[in-house]
Formats: sequence, structure tokens, C-alpha cells
Amino acid sequence: MTKNILIVPGDGIGQEVTAVGKKVLDKIAAKFGHTFTYDEALIGHVAIEATGNPLPDETLTKMKKSDAILFGAVGHPKYDNDPTAKVRPEQGLLKMRKELGLYANLRPIKLFDELLGASSIKPEVLKGADILFFRELTGDIYFGEKGRKNNGDTAFDLAEYSRYEVERIARKAFEAARTRRKKLCSVDKANVLETSRLWREVVQKIAPDYPDVEVEHQFVDAAAMILIKDPRRFDVVVTANLFGDILTDEASQIAGSMGMLASASVGDGTGVYEPIHGSAHDITGKGVANPLASILSAALLLDISFGMKAESKTIISAVDKVLKAGFRTRDIADAQTPADKVLGTSAMGEEVLKHI
Ligand code: NAD
Repeated sequence: MTKNILIVPGDGIGQEVTAVGKKVLDKIAAKFGHTFTYDEALIGHVAIEATGNPLPDETLTKMKKSDAILFGAVGHPKYDNDPTAKVRPEQGLLKMRKELGLYANLRPIKLFDELLGASSIKPEVLKGADILFFRELTGDIYFGEKGRKNNGDTAFDLAEYSRYEVERIARKAFEAARTRRKKLCSVDKANVLETSRLWREVVQKIAPDYPDVEVEHQFVDAAAMILIKDPRRFDVVVTANLFGDILTDEASQIAGSMGMLASASVGDGTGVYEPIHGSAHDITGKGVANPLASILSAALLLDISFGMKAESKTIISAVDKVLKAGFRTRDIADAQTPADKVLGTSAMGEEVLKHI
């Protein structure tokens, strides 16, 4: 197969880990006889520095033309500490999601057995946990009207959802549940929020179309608690943008580290595949960032956008073998990890390449 992949590293460690993800794609192409061609584009702080725009038109054009996008992260401390900045890196991310119609963010949360000890949750609670989150990505409080009133002393953010927006992501989640353990948990706050009442109404209305899927509804506060107490209870979870943002970071602790989790953002057009972590400026340039989330994002890209199941499994199994061999990056190492097994970003990438 011939495919064009756009590499969008963005900021901070996004640059370091995406370079490793790309090497893994190259190795897969060589092994399976595919031709992957690459282009690269700017987003976030690096794009603001170069063009004044966090998502330059040139980047958007390249994104729309590519077959899939391997993405890094956006963000810079300069903006985190200046809430008044009008042009911000994350505007590039939000605009990309809107422009590409990326309404569903998929986050598989699966713990590699070797990393049971890396989580702060007890191993016996965690073992076997395997959750697929569907976070709605283009609606909710992030995209509604926002502003200030009362001379700037009062601020507001409007949360909005339409039936159509809820239904299209709920259907994707139901379909995924069918291919897994056939359980769907819809998370909302229907006891308080009108958007959540619409959300629950829509999920209940379409549920009869999937009689083989067992559906439960949880309030977000209860879901946050269950996730830590009994994560194995969940199979597929579908939720709104804000709740999904928070719950998936919480769930990242099941997998031991933010550096282990990949995500896919899909919808009407080109899919975007990225680690769930941010630009991590505390470790940028030190060569210690864990590249496995980017490598696993490449695996998701091959599976979802190109239907390359065997290629995707090859990557996941290579990661598994490297972890079984005892290799760790700093974020997933523990007191028992021998010093010579603690690797930096590129060395960890090289180990994975050896197993492909
Ligand atoms: P972060 O994910 O960048 O970092 C959180 C912590 O996890 C840090 O201690 C970091 O060192 C560690 N970490 C993250 N990824 C790691 C990896 N691959 N290997 C080892 N350790 C890793 O989140 P943050 O510190 O809250 O935010 C930093 C910047 O990233 C901010 O500007 C924020 O806006 C941005 N951000 C961007 C995205 C995105 O692009 N999708 C997501 C979250 C945060």
C-alpha cells in the first residue's frame, strides 16, 4: 500500500517522541512492503513563532491532503503562565479538531502486565483492566460562547450539545463495544446539567439498535470513583468533551504513565494519532521522554486509518517484548529497575525497532 503520512511534531517533547514514532512507521513499511511518504507541518508554539498563527493555512491544507496524521503535542510555559495571551498554542489543536471534523477521541487504556508495579493503584485491582474511552471532541463547554461580564469580574463558558453530535459518537461507541466485551457505560451529569439530560436521552433512544450491548449510565463523579476502585468494571466508556478530558487523564494512571497512552481522533476526514501527554517542558531536551505513547499512536494509525491490523499488532507486540526484557524509560522505571535498563528516548525507540 502507498500512503502519505503527515508528521506534525508540535512543541516540547512532541518533537522528540514523534521522531521515534516515524522511525517505527518506516520499519513497518520496509518489513511489510508498503510505501509511506511523509511531509511535515507546524502547529502550536513553533507555528506561532514562525508565522504568528498556531495553525497556519499551509498546515491545514497539508492535513486535509494527507492519509493520516502522526501528531506530537502543543504547549509552552510562556502561555501557561499568561492567561491573558490572545494567541495560544492550544487554539491550533482545537481549530484542527474542528476543521478536520474530528468528533471522536478514542483512548485505549490497557496495562502491559510488566508495568503493574508502575501504577500507584494496587496490582490486584488493576490486573486485566482494559477500557476504551470515547471522548466527544468538538462540542461542550470548550466550543460554546465564552466571555466576561460585570466589568470582567464574572466569566462564563457555555456548554452546548445537539442530538446529532451525541448520536454520532454514541453510535461509534456502541459499534466498538460490539467488537469487545459488549458493555457500554455512558457517563454524564444528568442530575444537574441539561446537556447531560439530552446526552442520556439520545443514548437511551439508540440503545435498542444494539440489543447485544449492555448499557449502563453513570454520573461523572461516580465514574471517577469507580475508575480507581474497580477499573475492570468498564469496557467501553462514552462521554462528553470536558468529562472525557478529565477521566482519561485519571485513567492514564491505570497504565502507569502518561508516556504510555496513545489516542486516535477520528471523524469525517483525516484521522489524527497522538500521545495523550502534552509538551512536558519539564523534561524537554533532556532525551528522557518516553516514546512508547507515540509508537503506540503509530500502531493505532495503521489499524484505524489504513486497516493494517497485522502491522499494528507487530508494533504492540514489539513494545510488549521490550518491556518484558526489562527496559524502561525513567517515568515507568521503579526502584527494582537496574540502571542499565533505564533508557532514554532514542535508545527505547531502537529497542522497539529491533523487535519489528
Ligand atoms: P504533560 O502531559 O506535558 O506533562 C505532565 C507530566 O507527565 C510531566 O511531569 C511530564 O514530564 C510527564 N510526561 C508527560 N509525557 C511524558 C513522556 N512521554 N515521558 C515521560 N514523562 C512524561 O502535561 P502538563 O505538564 O500539564 O502540560 C504541559 C504543556 O502541554 C502545557 O502547555 C499544556 O497546555 C500542554 N498539553 C498539550 C496537550 C496536547 O497537545 N494534546 C495535552 C496536554 C497538555
